[in-house]
Amino acid sequence: MSDDARTDDPRRAVPRTDALLADPALRAAEQRLGRALVKDAVARVQQRIRTGALAPERAVPAVLDDLPTTAGSLRPVLNATGVLVHTNLGRAPLSAAAVEAIAAAAGTTDVELDLATGRRGPRGEAALGALLDAVPAAEAALVVGNCAAALALVATALGQGRELVLARGELVEIGDGFRIPDLLQSTGARLREVGTTNRVTVEDYRAALSPDTGAVLKVHPSNFVVRGFTRSADVGELAAALAGTGVPLVADVGSGLLRAHPLLPDEPDLQSTLAAGADLVLASGDKLLGGPQAGLVLGRADLVQRLRRHPLYRALRVDKTTLAALEATLRGPTPPVRQLLETGVEELRTRATAVAGRLAAAGVDARVVDAPGRVGGGGAPEHPLPGVAVSLPDGFAEPLRRATVPVVGYVEEDRTLLNLRSLLPADDDALVGAVLEVARRWT
Ligand SMILES: *Cc1c(COP(=O)(O)O)cnc(C)c1O
Repeated sequence: MSDDARTDDPRRAVPRTDALLADPALRAAEQRLGRALVKDAVARVQQRIRTGALAPERAVPAVLDDLPTTAGSLRPVLNATGVLVHTNLGRAPLSAAAVEAIAAAAGTTDVELDLATGRRGPRGEAALGALLDAVPAAEAALVVGNCAAALALVATALGQGRELVLARGELVEIGDGFRIPDLLQSTGARLREVGTTNRVTVEDYRAALSPDTGAVLKVHPSNFVVRGFTRSADVGELAAALAGTGVPLVADVGSGLLRAHPLLPDEPDLQSTLAAGADLVLASGDKLLGGPQAGLVLGRADLVQRLRRHPLYRALRVDKTTLAALEATLRGPTPPVRQLLETGVEELRTRATAVAGRLAAAGVDARVVDAPGRVGGGGAPEHPLPGVAVSLPDGFAEPLRRATVPVVGYVEEDRTLLNLRSLLPADDDALVGAVLEVARRWT
């Protein structure tokens, strides 16, 4: 082999790892992302140089290009599904106020310290205070990891070794194989099912009570409805039937609506359910409340205290960032989920027309169509929200998910629909940008 051939060999020109890592731009990246992620990117770029796919002098910009945006791999995604609370997309988007509160609490913070006295203070008191202000019918509140955790805590503290009475029609599966009866039984509580799939009466509940009864549980069947020959006992009737028995009535309302909302007439809310006589209500923080993942427990002070004192509570409690985000969601401006819910359909049409117009001007076959949205996340299953979508030709859905800012839409009758019901106005520019990025790749 001649010397010339050897100097042409791309393998000899591969920049060394330590030389690349010493580059100021890559040292700055290492400060931000950590050494391992930068080294991984360096190794990938060296491989491209080795195969001759990349010129050695392009190594540093290629590494910078290859680096992830953050040390975490979760990315912001535009939710164009029309589903406000999409479990696969992280449910409620947090408000800017909640994000700021998280950032403020992320370091060392006074989550459990009274700065005035220097003594230990009650954990998360401010978030609990915000919950109690929002739901005045509650005497006390507790926050755990999610609503499933709240159910597990209630079933353990009130039902372990005893019976939980609940309607057969409420033995529901919430999603992804999560079955509420399985969770309840896993705590050692026995389920005493009453009624039939379609009908249950207060009398059925009354007949099931015994000295073994730990609680009566009502679970909102949030993701389906039973129609036809049906009957159920509402919270008010059950509370009246349980009066004087000492058996607590616990209602899992799921969606986390604080108060009755005119746009969702069939959705139970925390305030009304307590006012109707429930002793405890349970809900998620990241559905219609629009906050972080959390399980909210509100109601009678003695019962909340029993749950707080139970050893299991320590395993289910939330961290400082959740408490911060929850408080800011409750005290701050209207969170995104409520804004999305309350946006008028004419405003959506105006925005869709503007988006479609910008796309059409760039040669994309974009049209404006009516397309209903949904609450999602197990909420208001029978209640379509009026919505408007930008309709694109078939074939956009998949590349849009892989755009620089990924967009998740859906396909209907051979068209890709991007539903604006689940997007904030501030997202429209990014939506246009993603579609144009995909369209450009095709031309
Ligand atoms: C969504 C839901 C749950 C589960 O809530 P997570 O916060 O996801 O644990 C439980 N019960 C009802 C009625 C629900 O709608």
